[in-house]
Amino acid sequence: MTFFIKTFGCQMNVNDSEKIRHLLEAAGLIPSAGEESADVIIVNSCAVRAKAQEKIFSYIGQFPRAKRVIVAGCVAQVEKRDIFKKKVRVDYVVGTHQFYRIAEIVDELNNGGSPGSAVAFNRQWQELVPAAQARSSQVTGYISIMEGCDNFCSYCIVPFTRGREKHRPLAAILREAEYLAGRGYREIILLGQNVNHWHDARSGSSFPDLLGQLAARVPVRWIRFITSYPGYHDRELVRVMAENRSIARHVHFPAQSGSTRILRKMSRNYSRGIYLGIIRAFRAAMPGMKFSSDFIVGFPGESDRDFQLTLSLLEQVEYESVFSFIYSPRPRTRAAALAQELPAAAIKERLYALQETQAGIQLRNNRRLLGETIEVLIVEKHPKKAGEVIGRSESYRVVNFVSTTPIGEFAHVKVTAAGPHSLRGEEIRPQPHD
Ligand code: SAM
Ligand code: SF4
Repeated sequence: MTFFIKTFGCQMNVNDSEKIRHLLEAAGLIPSAGEESADVIIVNSCAVRAKAQEKIFSYIGQFPRAKRVIVAGCVAQVEKRDIFKKKVRVDYVVGTHQFYRIAEIVDELNNGGSPGSAVAFNRQWQELVPAAQARSSQVTGYISIMEGCDNFCSYCIVPFTRGREKHRPLAAILREAEYLAGRGYREIILLGQNVNHWHDARSGSSFPDLLGQLAARVPVRWIRFITSYPGYHDRELVRVMAENRSIARHVHFPAQSGSTRILRKMSRNYSRGIYLGIIRAFRAAMPGMKFSSDFIVGFPGESDRDFQLTLSLLEQVEYESVFSFIYSPRPRTRAAALAQELPAAAIKERLYALQETQAGIQLRNNRRLLGETIEVLIVEKHPKKAGEVIGRSESYRVVNFVSTTPIGEFAHVKVTAAGPHSLRGEEIRPQPHD
């Protein structure tokens, strides 16, 4: 029996799909190259914006009704059995805390079982480490360290899709990191909705302690983590990062808005001033520190002045990259009750203005690197250009260059061209000794 997993959404979903694949392979199922040849399709879904959710149903709609389809993840958790009322055929609905049952559910369906759902939340951390062959990359290893969120930002559906926060025990995280380093992984990315709120109840370790221990014990070149919530910032993090060079000098630090007034309406518990203070503290300790962020435009009540404050925050921080989204009202969130006074066209204009401002910043940042030699991790072959590879810099910039160095190795690249979204370069090879 064969299966295909289609993943929508964030890196947490990618990591969940790795876990699902691991469980199905362990049960003897075979991954197929595409949807057509698969007996069962698992759709790992994203509900964060309405558009993401719609995409899932149009994806399922393309399959013949004879195909078995399981909707897993965030949409499954929110919609539950209401999914069966949609026009598309779905065989099973599996929520975010029920992935561990996936093999048993596929088996049940295979033996003629009827449609059903598994959507209960579970307070316990479920330990599951995907084998290397079930992972999406053999270079970058994802490690989930916490799940869920207790913040209830007024626009966000995540506390309803992922449940309350639960934290993975320290020993299990260290074990997975050591396992990945032992398999030759070059970087690890710690995952969670608010990684900087992680703590280990038994040892009392905080997130900076965890990073310190990983840096001391796990021989990978770059340790990264996403996502950090500015409201949980602990100044110990700055100290631990400054002391450990294997923690990448790049933090994804979503601001959402540059206006304190809007941040309050979003129930984010920091102000523009506090946010900028944290950025300054990082840069005082590590002058080369880089940041990326998420922004929402068109939140109800966002005035032109509020939006200008967002643009000025972009300029002040000079982010390496930014994900920007049009506000999408989501069920069960408090903001869904707020009236939207801005016309859709005006919100779109703000989105384009934000993206244009950010593209200008990225071009400026990237041009500063012209002529410099930077270290990059080669992550894949270029899909279209023979002989070329794609590398990632420490701050996650895309760097294209010609190379025969194997995937997963580091290279030194002299930057020869800079665009807003990527760099081009020439590999500098070490000279052989005379
Ligand atoms: N926990 C992270 C944080 O607080 O920064 C964010 C996780 S969320 C899954 C990813 C991003 O989606 C958010 O940073 C936000 O910019 C965006 N997002 C969440 N809810 C949204 C909504 N209702 N409309 C538009 N964008 C939204
Ligand atoms: Fe959503 Fe806010 Fe939690 Fe992030 S911190 S997942 S935006 S509720």
